[in-house]
Amino acid sequence: MKHFRAAPKHLMTALAMGATLVTLPALAQEKVLNLYSARHYQTDEVMYDTFTKTTGIKINRVDADDAGIVARLKAEGAASPADVILLVDAARMASADAQGLFRPIKSPLLDKAIPANLRATATPDGVAWTGFSTRARVIVFDPLRVKAADVATYEQLADPKLKGMVCTRSGSHPYNLSLFATVVERLGDEKGEAWLKGLVANMARAPKGGDTDQIKAVASGECAVALTNTYYAARLLKSSKSEDKAIMEKVRVVFPNQGTSGTHVNIAGAAIAKHAKHPENAVQFMEFLASPFAQDYFANGNNEFPAAVGVKVDNPALKAMGGENFKTENIPLGAVAKNLTKVQQMLDRVGYK
Ligand code: FE
Repeated sequence: MKHFRAAPKHLMTALAMGATLVTLPALAQEKVLNLYSARHYQTDEVMYDTFTKTTGIKINRVDADDAGIVARLKAEGAASPADVILLVDAARMASADAQGLFRPIKSPLLDKAIPANLRATATPDGVAWTGFSTRARVIVFDPLRVKAADVATYEQLADPKLKGMVCTRSGSHPYNLSLFATVVERLGDEKGEAWLKGLVANMARAPKGGDTDQIKAVASGECAVALTNTYYAARLLKSSKSEDKAIMEKVRVVFPNQGTSGTHVNIAGAAIAKHAKHPENAVQFMEFLASPFAQDYFANGNNEFPAAVGVKVDNPALKAMGGENFKTENIPLGAVAKNLTKVQQMLDRVGYK
């Protein structure tokens, strides 16, 4: 497998000069797939190599973070060699789609393999993106300061009982935007905004840091309650560092809303690039990603859950925190796209940084 880590400078310069792009190793009909990926886990390599061995389709990969990939696709425009794009979180998928970067995926196999709530809203042309692994957005709390019963739901995060105790990362981060978008979908605009306002009123400090920082802040006593994606907690649980283990010994994980609407799950997913030069290879690759073999690697690479129907993953860290069997929210992630702008406006009104 060929692997381009850095963006080829000459390519970007040529584009800036208005040159027509014909330089990439991918010509139409070739057995090639150009993959722009925001995922880089070692186990993914085995998965990609297996795809190449099985299909004869060579993968050229560009690694960047989500924002870098979107910026690159926009800069490259119609000349972009990208076929498949791997991004993380429905909010990012929805935003890239809104910017016209995807073309619809049509695959009866994927329609069957991946549950409809883990994909973009279907149109007669297909779906704009589809999930390939899932992660849950869970509550982490300090059992010495808070009872599990007081943090059993997302709604309770806004209860005045938790005043001065809640830590979150930025409200505008995709992980929070997606969660808030489904809360608003569930509760309606008025109650949804009131909930966000209550959440802000309960904060121990202004939003900052990433999900791991929130877990650490609970362990250190800076706050008593926080939100995180499951794989960050699993990573600390699996860590060989004693300080990471100590953090997880001090906190508890709750899968929220088990008695009601279920826990919010989000996706790492894929889309076909608007200007894909190998769209058939792209569909073939995505169908491969939905296979039990690839699902296992895809999910395990980042301590996530498989997205495909009937595929289970055996991950002791996820099991230990209650991730083996839990009720998931059944609001389609397509609702995230619909509510994204509205939620951002709500955040501005309630002063959620
Ligand atoms: Fe993450």
